[in-house]
Amino acid sequence: MSEADPILVPAPAPRQRKPDWIRVKAPTSAGFAETKKLMRSLNLATVCEEAACPNIGECWTKKHATVMILGDTCTRACAFCNVKTGMPRAIDLLEPEHVATAAAELGLTHIVVTSVDRDDLPDGGAKQFVRVIEALRRTTPSTTIEILTPDFRNKPESAIAAIVAARPDVYNHNLETVPRLYPTIRPGARYYASLRLLESVKRQDPTIFTKSGVMVGLGEQRLEVHQVMDDMRSADVDFLTMGQYLQPTPRHAKVDEFVTPAAFSAYGAIARAKGFLLVAASPLTRSSYHAGDDFAKMKAAREAKLAARHPGESRDLGETRRDFPA
Ligand code: SF4
Repeated sequence: MSEADPILVPAPAPRQRKPDWIRVKAPTSAGFAETKKLMRSLNLATVCEEAACPNIGECWTKKHATVMILGDTCTRACAFCNVKTGMPRAIDLLEPEHVATAAAELGLTHIVVTSVDRDDLPDGGAKQFVRVIEALRRTTPSTTIEILTPDFRNKPESAIAAIVAARPDVYNHNLETVPRLYPTIRPGARYYASLRLLESVKRQDPTIFTKSGVMVGLGEQRLEVHQVMDDMRSADVDFLTMGQYLQPTPRHAKVDEFVTPAAFSAYGAIARAKGFLLVAASPLTRSSYHAGDDFAKMKAAREAKLAARHPGESRDLGETRRDFPA
C-alpha cells in the first residue's frame, strides 16, 4: 500500500434486527432492583447477567435468579456465550453459604445453580457443587435444587459421581447445538461426551430428573435437531428445553435464522411424541426459564406415568424417588 492509498476501515456489521416475538421489556421493577442488590451484597455472580439473558426483567421481578458458582471467569471460549474467558480466581469457600442465604432471602422454592467451566481444577469444580447442595439442604431444606453443570470433560468419573451422590432434584447439562456445529460453536466440548454425562447421571441414579437444552438459529438443520432429540431420549433425558440463539455481542457467532414461534411449536410437538416427560420450546426459552414451575410439571408427569404403570396405588415423590425405574 502506498502513502496515497486510503486506509480501508471495514464498516461495522449492522446489528441484526430482532423480530417482534423476541422483544422484551427493559428491567425496571422494584423486585429486579432488590434481587440485584442481594446478589451484589453476597458477592454472587449470576448467569442472568453474565449471559445477558433477555428474560432478566421478568425473572428477577419474580426474584428468580440463576446463581453462577466458581466465579465469573470461564476457562473456555464458546462462540455463543458472553461469560468472560480467562484464568479464574481461587474457589470462594464462603460461596456455598452465600448461595444458601440468597435462596432463603429470596424465598425460593426451587433454585437453579450453574457454573463456569473450570478446566483448571482437578475435579472441574464438582466438589463446590456438592458443597452448595449441602449448604442449601441445611439452610432451606424444602427448596428443590436444580444444577446446570459443565461437561467435566477429561475429569475423573468420581467428579460426576460425587454430585449425583449429593442428590440434586434435577441434573441439567445442555448439549447446546447439533454435533456438526460443535467445532465452531462449542470447540472445547465434545457432543458425545456431553451425551454420555447425561446418560451416566441417569444410570447412577434414575430418580434424579435429567434435563438438557439446545439453542436453535445457529445454522442447524431440522433433521439434525430431531436427531439430537433422539440422542437425548436414548440417554433417557426427561426434560428438553429449546430456545432461540441470540448473539450477545458482535464478536460472537451470528444468528443464522430467527426461528418462528410456529416452528418452535412444531419442534415441541415432535419432542413430546419422542417421549420426553416435559418439553419447553419457544423463542425465549432458556434452561432456567420458569424452572420452578416446570419442575412441578415434570414431577406431576412422572407421577402420572407411574400411576399408569401401577393403577390403584397412590405415590408421593419420596416413593417415586426410590421406585422410579430407569
Ligand atoms: S431465564 Fe434463567 S438465566 Fe435468564 S434471567 Fe431467567 S433465571 Fe436468569
